[in-house]
Formats: sequence, structure tokens, C-alpha cells
Amino acid sequence: MEKNNFMSNKYGIPEEDEKEIRARDKTCIYCHKAMKKYPNTKGTPGDKATIEHLNNDGPFDEKSNLAICCGNCNSSRNNKELLVWFKTQYCMDRNINEKTVAEPVRVYIRYIEGFINRCVWIFAKTMPEIPHYYILKDDLSEYDKKLFDEFDMFIKKNGYNKKFYSKQYTYFNTGNCRYWIIGNILNRTALEHKN
Ligand SMILES: [Zn+2]
Repeated sequence: MEKNNFMSNKYGIPEEDEKEIRARDKTCIYCHKAMKKYPNTKGTPGDKATIEHLNNDGPFDEKSNLAICCGNCNSSRNNKELLVWFKTQYCMDRNINEKTVAEPVRVYIRYIEGFINRCVWIFAKTMPEIPHYYILKDDLSEYDKKLFDEFDMFIKKNGYNKKFYSKQYTYFNTGNCRYWIIGNILNRTALEHKN
């Protein structure tokens, strides 16, 4: 097999990120079964550790969108949305649902597929030189206000710090967007295409 120092897989995921994800997802993120590597096997044995994209629409090389699941779950889900897949016989037979899946999947469903896609984003007209959108916590329902606070904590825990002029903020990237919270405002901007 050919060795490549930068990426070890067909999706172009940095080796470092893949290692981190494989260390985190020791059992299948959906059915919790123990998995094996099968480095030289063609095809997909049911207990093979495979790379899973939580969001099938990508980005395909981004850490927050990646997890490890078994070959059986991977082929059963295929391109279905998670909540649709959970209703299939395969998931019902194995008790796979939004409560039983591993944390990275629960986070994805709660914040990424849920909260931030449901919110109505407003274009920040006052700062056209830095194109971005925002939502105000005060405009949200009581339920979404709680999710706003949870997402705030989530960004702080999982994000990265970066200076913007003289101030430092914590950012979190997912789904081709960068998110950051300042007080009661959640901001997002499109990321420029990598590479
Ligand atoms: Zn599985």
C-alpha cells in the first residue's frame, strides 16, 4: 500500500484528525459494537471500523462531521438523514435512536442538524466588509434560548481561540461555517473553501 504523510484516507482527512476520531470512537457510534480495522480487506465486513460523515452533504474532511461506525450501520444508513434512518427496522431492531447513540451523534442532532439549522439568520447589514449572519438570543423561543446557552458552552468547550483585531474569541467550525458568540448574539460566516 502507498504511504501518504498528509492523509490516510480517500476523503483527505488529516491523519491527526483521523487518529483523534478513531481514539474517541472505540465502538460504533450507533450500535456500540466493537469494531476491527481490516486494513487489507476489500469490501466492508459488518464489524469493520468505517469512516462516517454525520452530515452526508459534507464537508468530508472536517473533524466535527466525522465519526467511526461499523460497516453494518454505515451501509444501512447510507445517505439517509439520521432521524429518518432511526425509524427504519434496522435501527428499531437494535435500539438505535437519538437517545442511545454516542455523544458526537447526539451533539450533531441537537445543535447542528437541529438548533442552528432551524434558526432564522439575519444578514449583518452594518458590517458588509465582514459578511456574516447572526441570531439574537432575545428573539428565540424559551426552548431555543436554552439551546443557545448550551451551544455557547459547546463552542467554548470544543472550539478554538483566535484573535480578531485586538479581541480574542472562541470559534467553532461546522458545515462550512464558522460560529462564535458575543454576549447574546450568535454569529456565523461562510468559510472559504479549503485547499
Ligand atoms: Zn454499528
